[in-house]
Amino acid sequence: MFDNLSDRLDSAFKLLKGEGRISEINVATTVKEIRRALVDADVNYKIAKEFTDKVKDKALGEKVLTAVSPGQLMVKIVKDELVELMGGTETELDLSDKPTIILIAGLQGSGKTTFSGKLANYLNTKKHKKPLLVAGDVYRPAAINQLQVLGEQIKVPVYTEPENKDVVQIALNAIAQAKKDGNGVVIIDTAGRLAVDEAMMTEVANIKNAVNPREILFVVDSMTGQDAVNTAKAFNDRLDFTGVVLTKLDGDTRGGAALSIQYTVTKPIKFVSMGEKLDTLDVFYPERMAQRILGMGDIISLVERAQDQFDEEEAKKIEKKIRANKFDFDDFKTQLGQIKKMGNIKDLLGMIPGIGKAIKDIDISDDAFKGIEAMIDSMTPQERANPDIITPARRKRIAVGAGKDISEMNAFMKQFEQMRGMMKQMNKFKGMGMPGMGMP
Ligand code: GDP
Repeated sequence: MFDNLSDRLDSAFKLLKGEGRISEINVATTVKEIRRALVDADVNYKIAKEFTDKVKDKALGEKVLTAVSPGQLMVKIVKDELVELMGGTETELDLSDKPTIILIAGLQGSGKTTFSGKLANYLNTKKHKKPLLVAGDVYRPAAINQLQVLGEQIKVPVYTEPENKDVVQIALNAIAQAKKDGNGVVIIDTAGRLAVDEAMMTEVANIKNAVNPREILFVVDSMTGQDAVNTAKAFNDRLDFTGVVLTKLDGDTRGGAALSIQYTVTKPIKFVSMGEKLDTLDVFYPERMAQRILGMGDIISLVERAQDQFDEEEAKKIEKKIRANKFDFDDFKTQLGQIKKMGNIKDLLGMIPGIGKAIKDIDISDDAFKGIEAMIDSMTPQERANPDIITPARRKRIAVGAGKDISEMNAFMKQFEQMRGMMKQMNKFKGMGMPGMGMP
């Protein structure tokens, strides 16, 4: 995400490296580079210009601080301005109505339906709002079906009227049903078109007028850059939406949309969507996003995601086994599963400060675990529970069963043994208590 922009900003800051102090001249060159980087990331020129003018004024206005190098000072100024450009602080959904109606709008293919599923799952599991999804795209039977499938996956009910083409009526019926069933939130997924068109806008506007939603979320594909911003403007002029959802931020997006939308429509980005997994919906935090753009990582989001996916019961069980030096392949597989649930591995590593840049050209796919899992699956239950009984002959059989080379199986066993060795060491230390740590 935003790799190119991050690199370019980094180079701009390097121009100040070695400079003892901020001056008119060195600031001018750096600022020019920053502006170019923004424009190349698909930020509108006017916005980029205004941004860098502010950065320049701030930099020149700073007192010369001996403790901070000009490079560091510039990073700080740019970070603060990026945060500001993206809306300052995070904006939460207003869920105060009973039920709260949320209307989802956007172009076809922007990720509306996927987002509706993620949002429903989030409101169901995190906010306990008992949401109802409404299939409002009545023109494509596949769209209704898609929402039903999502609903089943996340165990959220989906309201449909496949024979009815009157979306306003469907929406009103759904809300009546939600009141009866005690749903806390009604999420209405609407039909999109490939481009902004009058009929689509009229339809969404009609639904809006009829149901008076508390939130209207405009969903937009961040990969479409400047187009995303223009589309946002068209939808906002017509619908006066309450927030933006940026999707496909996991892809090779240049970042322009994230940086320009708030400026253009003065509406907050409320969520970002990265990937198709329904259990990862990210609230948009301008501060954290700015840090990621500047390659500072986003450790807070990483920890939150880990907490979200963490199964405490499982963790306790595994900890007990580690304590008793009984960690086995079943535990290993459980742990792999938990890591995988946290999302795309490369994305996760990118949240660790300093790592994102180092690994950007390395191909790390989620398939990396597949070979290991295949080997574990190829073991018998006894072998999984008692790694010590795995003789060379068994290793061979397991490797063949997993379609792996014996050398890969041996390497995996070696790593596993090393890991267990480390766990044993840790247990020993724990028993003794660590002497003298941290005391001078
Ligand atoms: P809709 O037409 O607006 O309802 O869009 P869909 O939800 O059907 O999404 C269109 C396509 O984009 C589908 O293939 C989705 O799987 C994919 N998609 C949606 N959200 C994301 C995302 O955050 N990241 C990626 N990589 N793909 C997404």
